[in-house]
Amino acid sequence: MMLTHRWTIAIIFICSFLILGAAPVTQSQSIFGTPAVDYVFGEQATFTVPLTDHRSIQSLFLHLQPGDGDLEVIELPLPPAGQPGVYVHPLDVSPFPPFGTVKYQFRASLSDGSKVSSPEYSFEYSDNRFEWQMLENDQIQVFWQEGDTGFGQAALNAAAAGLDNALQILPVDIQDPIRVYIYPGTAALQSIPGTSMPDWAGGLASDQADAALLSVLPGAEQRLELERQAPHEIMHLVLRRAAPRNYANVPAWFAEGLASLAELYPNPEYERMLLTASQERTLIPLETLCSRFPSEEHNVYLAYAEAESFMRYIYRNHGSSGIARTLAAYENGLSCEAGVQTGLEISLEELESRWQSEMFGETSQASNAADTTAFGPYLALSLLVLLPPLIIPLSLRWKD
Ligand SMILES: [Zn+2]
Repeated sequence: MMLTHRWTIAIIFICSFLILGAAPVTQSQSIFGTPAVDYVFGEQATFTVPLTDHRSIQSLFLHLQPGDGDLEVIELPLPPAGQPGVYVHPLDVSPFPPFGTVKYQFRASLSDGSKVSSPEYSFEYSDNRFEWQMLENDQIQVFWQEGDTGFGQAALNAAAAGLDNALQILPVDIQDPIRVYIYPGTAALQSIPGTSMPDWAGGLASDQADAALLSVLPGAEQRLELERQAPHEIMHLVLRRAAPRNYANVPAWFAEGLASLAELYPNPEYERMLLTASQERTLIPLETLCSRFPSEEHNVYLAYAEAESFMRYIYRNHGSSGIARTLAAYENGLSCEAGVQTGLEISLEELESRWQSEMFGETSQASNAADTTAFGPYLALSLLVLLPPLIIPLSLRWKD
C-alpha cells in the first residue's frame, strides 16, 4: 500500500557502452542520432532515436534484448519529417528483469535497398521508484530503502558472512561485486512486476540480474532476517557464477540444497519434518526434485529440508571438491543422475539410499519402525556435519 504512494515519475537515462561489430553497414552515423531511454519501473519504457534523413527510410526497427531473454524485433511507425523514432514498451505487461541489463539497437531499411544499424546500447533496468542508499566492501554492494546507515551496515555484515559461508562450500573467484537489494518487507518485494514470488519466500536471486533481492524491514528482527535471507540468495548467485554457461541445467535439489546449506541458521523445522516424513514414508524421491520443487506449501518445505540434508551429507562425505566436480558435470550438460555419477562416482539412487540410512537409520522408508530414537543419531550427525561452516550459529541455536 505504502509503496503505491511513493511512485514517482523517475526518469533515468543510462546510455552506456558501445558494443562493436554489430553494424552490418557503415552508414549508421548518417541516419541515427544518439538514442535515449526514459522509463518508469513497472510502467513503461520509452525508446527514442533522432533520425537525420527521413526521406530515405523505408522501415525502422528496434532490436531489443532484455536480460538473457530472446531478441525482440519491433517495427516502429515511420515518424513525420523532423521527428525522432519512438517506441513505448509496456513494462506492466512485458517486464524487463529487475536490475538486469537491457540491450538495444535501432535498424532501418533505406530506399536504395541498403540496411543501416545504430551501435548497440544498453542500460540497467533499476527500480527507480525509490531512492537507494548504498554501502559496499570489495566483494559486496548492499542497497536499501528504509533505515539508517546502521541498517545498511547490518546488511553488509550479513551479506559478507553469507558470502564467506558460500565460498567455503563452493570456492569461486568473485570478480564483480555481488549486489544485494533490500526491500522493506515482503509486499514491497512482491510488488515488483514480473517476479512471481510465493508467499512463503523471503527473498529471491534474480538469475538474469545477478542480484539478490531481499525483504527485510528495519527493526528488532532485522539482523535475524538479514542473516537468514542473505546467505541463501547469495549462494544462488555464487552458484550461478560457478556455472555460467549452463546454470539452468543445475538440478533444483542441488541449487536449493547448496543455498540452504549456506544459511547461517538452519531451519529448526526441517529436522522435525524430515523425521516425520521418514517415519510416515512420505519423503519425496530426490529424482523428482531434479527439475523443480513442488508448488504446495507443505511439500515445498519438505523439499527444502531434504535438499539441505542431502547436500549436507554430500558436503560431509565428498567435500567441496565433490560438489565442484558434480557442478562441473552439470555445467557440461550432464543429466541430474549422470552429474552425480560423474562427480561423486556413485548413482543418485545409491547415494540417496546411503543418506537415508545414515540420517534415519532403522526408521528409513525401508522400515516399518516408527521409533523416535532415530532422532538421536540424526542430531549427532547434524552436529558433526554442521561443524565446519556453521559453528557459531549452531551454538546459538542449540542453546535455544
Ligand atoms: Zn533458493
